[in-house]
Amino acid sequence: MANFYRDNDDMQFLFRHIDLGELAEIAEENFKFAAEFDYAPVNSEEAIQNYDMVLDSLGQLSGEFIAPRAEDVDREGNTLNEDGSVTYAKGIRESLEKLAQAEVMGFTLPYRFGGLNFPNLIYSMAIEIVSRADAALMNIFGLQGIAETINAFASEDIKLKYLYDFAAGKVTGAMVLTEPDAGSDLQSVKLRAFQDNGGKWYLHGVKRFITNGCGDVLLVLARSEPDRSGGLGLSLFVCDRGPTVHIRRLEDKLGIHGSPTCEIFFDNTPCEIIGERQRGLVTYVMSLMNGARIGIAGQSMGIAEAAFRVARDYAASRKQFGVAIEKLPAVRDMLIDMKIAIEAGRALLYETSRVVDIEIGYAKRLEADSRLRGNDNRDKAEAKQLKNDSRKYKRYAGMLTPMSKYYCSEMCNKIAYDSIQVLGGSGYMRDYACERHARDARITTIYEGTSQLQIVAAVRGVCSGTAEKFIAELAQQQFQPEVKDLLEKLAEGEEQLKKSIAFCKEAGNEYMDLYGRAVVDIAIDLITGFLLCGQASSKVDMEVAAAESEQTDDGETIPMKHRKAMIARRYITKNAYKIASLAELICSGDKSTFTDYEALVGGVSELAD
Ligand SMILES: Cc1cc2nc3c(=O)[nH]c(=O)nc-3n(C[C@H](O)[C@H](O)[C@H](O)COP(=O)(O)OP(=O)(O)OC[C@H]3O[C@@H](n4cnc5c(N)ncnc54)[C@H](O)[C@@H]3O)c2cc1C
Repeated sequence: MANFYRDNDDMQFLFRHIDLGELAEIAEENFKFAAEFDYAPVNSEEAIQNYDMVLDSLGQLSGEFIAPRAEDVDREGNTLNEDGSVTYAKGIRESLEKLAQAEVMGFTLPYRFGGLNFPNLIYSMAIEIVSRADAALMNIFGLQGIAETINAFASEDIKLKYLYDFAAGKVTGAMVLTEPDAGSDLQSVKLRAFQDNGGKWYLHGVKRFITNGCGDVLLVLARSEPDRSGGLGLSLFVCDRGPTVHIRRLEDKLGIHGSPTCEIFFDNTPCEIIGERQRGLVTYVMSLMNGARIGIAGQSMGIAEAAFRVARDYAASRKQFGVAIEKLPAVRDMLIDMKIAIEAGRALLYETSRVVDIEIGYAKRLEADSRLRGNDNRDKAEAKQLKNDSRKYKRYAGMLTPMSKYYCSEMCNKIAYDSIQVLGGSGYMRDYACERHARDARITTIYEGTSQLQIVAAVRGVCSGTAEKFIAELAQQQFQPEVKDLLEKLAEGEEQLKKSIAFCKEAGNEYMDLYGRAVVDIAIDLITGFLLCGQASSKVDMEVAAAESEQTDDGETIPMKHRKAMIARRYITKNAYKIASLAELICSGDKSTFTDYEALVGGVSELAD
């Protein structure tokens, strides 16, 4: 029986390695909900059992029901009907129904709306599991952030109107931001929001590239302040699908065929404002996008895992030159690097999700504390500490989120291409899933902000000292002696990062933009290096299966900790060379990109005019 949760050793290990008790306490606000809802856990143990149970049933659903439909979904795609409605592929319809029945469409929503109230970390795992089965389906499953945004910022009336239906899987939503002239630069959104004499809001204009734009509930970014350009002229609105919302076309695209990408025309569509005017982009969409970025990192992990498994299995059975190709050094090297890159990505993503959960916990405590302001019994020193901790985790989450999105999506593209390479000519054929994984992977570095935009977001944190502080905290873990030399290598890397940052700062903003990717790459390599050393020093006692070898016919088992130490060794040793060369490049002062562009790229072709 296929179970995409149980069969994933690394996920099983991390579920035990990460302190889920701490996250359960935060999500359950010290288990206060147990008094009101009989299905809410009374302690960490019960909460963790619930997480395990839900992931287990989702893993089974993904392995046995969703994955077998993914190929047909990819071939069938969606249909735009003459009446403007959209019909999903059969497999998507069936899987959505099953997900609703499994009650997993409100992962992080509060109990009072029928949600599971799970931490973000568990939701990230769920997204990975579903994406491994069908990356396109994840685009609808993973739009739960829309409900979260409503829960975080909308009025109680709006929450009551929508959130039960979201949690029950009765409605799906869409995040409606992009326009023909506003992609990466959302500050230039033009779609008009206006009020009638009675103060009722309406939307008018065009949006494009909207995933599930045919969904029931649309969160729309629109210009509510016609005289104000930039982000502060924008507000966020919610509207229902209805006669004034016209799906003008479905995009014909490279991958994620099961996920409809719509162009929408809003023709004076009635809507309601979310939260306050002018905070649409700067507060609400930023929060929505941060959640969605973690979602895409999870989607990337799922695609990478699926693509790796195709390659790994094929390499064991395909014979050339009288041996299975996995015996050939070039192939085995590729497979090991693929596996390590996936585990590094998972370490980074789960750590990011953990930090986001802690950040949310602090934000809730801060809000509760602000209600006590003026109370003489309030401990001022404690309140100050709370504020500082909250700020710190906000900064960590703000840096780690774009890092995860960037690393995991780039990594999954490489894995998907390498998977095709391992299969050779067969990998290029539609007979094997790796060509679909490669097509599905391609979007992950583009939507929810391109890799370049993630770097712009992450480099700020790296260069303002946040990365250094975060790395210093990671370095304080208890490590086992086996990784001592690796920690020394990481410490050298930290010095190189400091030098690189200092050089960039001295050289100015433009130079920092140019070498931002290299700086962020170094920081990511160091963070994941520490995380892998932490995993190698885990208290979790778990044996995992190793592959068959020449010495043993049957594969043996190996302690996961030992395996993780091997992974950390290979990852950190290889990266030490990479970090040294990146630091050298950054500190070279080479500005040829600025000076030589025209000469090097040549003119625009005449046909482009
Ligand atoms: C399949 C699909 C689904 C989508 N789903 C949704 C959705 O549900 N909702 C929604 O609102 N949008 C959605 N989008 C839109 C998506 O978020 C945008 O395509 C993406 O943000 C990039 O914008 P753009 O396509 O206009 O590219 P552009 O912004 O024109 O970027 C073009 C290139 O310039 C680079 N670039 C731009 N600005 C900078 C900068 N400041 N620094 C460095 N490089 C820069 C980019 O990295 C990119 O390489 C979807 C897109 C696709 C293809």
